[in-house]
Amino acid sequence: MLIEQARGALKRVYGYDSFRKGQEDIISGIMNGRDTLAILPTGGGKSICYQIPAMLLPGTSLVISPLISLMKDQVDALRRVGVSAAYLNSSLGAAEYREVMRSAMQGEYKLLYVAPERLDAPMFQSLSEQLAIPLIAIDEAHCVSQWGHDFRPSYRQLAGWIARMTNRPLVAAFTATATNEVAIDISEMLRLRDPSVFVTGFARPNLSLSVVTGADKKKFLERFISERKDQSGIIYAATRKEVENVYELLTRRGIQAGKYHGGLSDAERAQTQEKFRFDDIRVMVATNAFGMGIDKPNVRYVLHWQMTSDIESYYQEAGRAGRDGEESECILLFEPADMQVQRFLIEQGTGDTDRKSIQLSKLHTMMNYSRTQRCLQQFIVDYFGETGVEACGKCSSCLDKSEPVNRTDEAKMALSCVGRMKGRFGVTMVAKVLKGSRDKRLLEFGLDRLSTYGLMRHLPEKEIADWLYWLVSEGYLKLSEGQYPVVSLTANALPVLEGRELIMQRVRATVKQTANLDTGAASPLFEALKQWRKEKAAAEGVPPFMLFFDATLREIANAQPRSVEQLLSVKGIGAAKADKYGEGLLELIHSFGGESTASHDVEAKPIISNKRASTEETPSHLLTLELFQAGQETDNIAKARGMSKVTIEGHLIRCGDEGHELDWSRIIPAEYEQQIAEAIHEIGIEKLRPIKDALPEEISYFAIHGVISKYRLKG
Ligand code: ADP
Repeated sequence: MLIEQARGALKRVYGYDSFRKGQEDIISGIMNGRDTLAILPTGGGKSICYQIPAMLLPGTSLVISPLISLMKDQVDALRRVGVSAAYLNSSLGAAEYREVMRSAMQGEYKLLYVAPERLDAPMFQSLSEQLAIPLIAIDEAHCVSQWGHDFRPSYRQLAGWIARMTNRPLVAAFTATATNEVAIDISEMLRLRDPSVFVTGFARPNLSLSVVTGADKKKFLERFISERKDQSGIIYAATRKEVENVYELLTRRGIQAGKYHGGLSDAERAQTQEKFRFDDIRVMVATNAFGMGIDKPNVRYVLHWQMTSDIESYYQEAGRAGRDGEESECILLFEPADMQVQRFLIEQGTGDTDRKSIQLSKLHTMMNYSRTQRCLQQFIVDYFGETGVEACGKCSSCLDKSEPVNRTDEAKMALSCVGRMKGRFGVTMVAKVLKGSRDKRLLEFGLDRLSTYGLMRHLPEKEIADWLYWLVSEGYLKLSEGQYPVVSLTANALPVLEGRELIMQRVRATVKQTANLDTGAASPLFEALKQWRKEKAAAEGVPPFMLFFDATLREIANAQPRSVEQLLSVKGIGAAKADKYGEGLLELIHSFGGESTASHDVEAKPIISNKRASTEETPSHLLTLELFQAGQETDNIAKARGMSKVTIEGHLIRCGDEGHELDWSRIIPAEYEQQIAEAIHEIGIEKLRPIKDALPEEISYFAIHGVISKYRLKG
């Protein structure tokens, strides 16, 4: 019964047909009065797990979250679907704060989001005395554990306050990253009462994970981005300086990028983040300061310029790709020397010895991830204690079909050199010896007299150092702890040196394109829908994803619904959105309809009854044509008719397709006509994106459609 209500809300409010893995169980647990600890991967749909119970339970539920901009997005999104919600955090001015508090006290909200820093004992006290609070949902619950990677002292106080509330509400804790240890800690620290624990698995099937080793990073990046022109992505770099460098590299190439790091002012950062959310810039180059609170669902790739210090951080950052469930890529550019940088940062850090040794061991695991030949998804879920996950089949390890190369000879050279240097030097010096360098210090130590001196002189010194790091990650060598780690043999080296064990290595020099990525499959209608969404969103002052996700637009483009009822069956369209945008969407779909708008079973009512759109006798696209022929430009027509520009463009193309006279020179810039025609000839018209990408940026889809229509290329 309860779950029926929840299903009803899922469809009515969010427009989704079915629950995702775990959601139903979690919601029924909460509705049946159980404290809950739920561990769901990023993008797994945690919010719905507490939002639906909050809607159904009487009173106001509290949501504790450290993510300020995420709160705003969620509250905006809830209001758009007709649920009363508000937030209290430091972004509010004093007057706004008081106003929200006042309304909250009167029980006006179903959900009240609160930042933990804003909470104090008296506030809890007065809220709990005046309000019916059925549920407290604690998001990012791993922040309560100091074993986690993101400990926040303000979370520690929560448990005490909750315990002292007059009527202790249900407590449901949510997180995406928690090892077993952290999960137990969360439960204890929050004093959950006999909680139902749900772990739905850490795997993110829509992510393709890759590690790229030994690439020329700059060249790699340029190519990578140029192949993904229209996609949103984040590039994480370890330091501010690197962020600046990468940012400059991209902007010099004319790519619209933004930068984000701790050295910029709050205003600059906020502005760049907004631009990114609104799709005004496609690529964000950032340190890990850019993170908490990014809830942009259509991030198509996250590229790490350097490795992170642990798997938790990596997976959390990489996991910002593909929250909307669409295929996305996570690429780690790995250079063994990055390990040194991270190690240095840990050594210089403020933690005590215990903390540092936990961090160093996490760093080693990260290094192993960067080196492993196992399925990368398996490696990660394994780390979080989950077993039995099948190989993903699309990470760089799974796709790596290269035959392992026998590198036993080189291994023997390196190992015996390390042995002779008696654990007194670091990797760099060993590499110099193998290279046969004339380095001053090397000569002072007389290392040029070793029998291994110059044994690998045919290789670049950097490659030798990489080779040594590989032997470390495979466990044949070890690095000491401390600021200047020295390298020495492990017990595993002996069988190799004695010729009893072979060393095989897969060499992955080149970068493989990951599987299944939708890089060029955009249909014209999909492109038009995106453009329409962007204009609408800009007019409303919200990011495009607030209106619809790409997946929803893609489904609309495929299904081409012709009525509000049909629109409602599209995933991601609930009653509120259909009400607000249905008419505009149907109009746009119609303008792309061509001959498929045959009269049978087409419920064209919403379009015909569209007061702005058409008179009884003249179809909408012909009205547009009249205005166009009267000399009006598309911008003006759009304004005059209260429609988006892409709709108007769609009308004109449709007129062209139907054989109406059009002044094509106003649609297709004369100087490009030939070039567009050639590109179409070469690429074909199945997909427009590759054509667009092959042409100068200033050529619009409209012009391309124009050429197709003018020359009747549709077949
Ligand atoms: P998390 O907080 O776990 O990272 P979110 O709650 O932000 O994930 O959900 C990720 C996305 O998945 C959101 O856009 C959400 O609307 C969508 N989503 C959640 N549950 C479902 C569902 N049952 N069906 C379809 N989409 C869903």
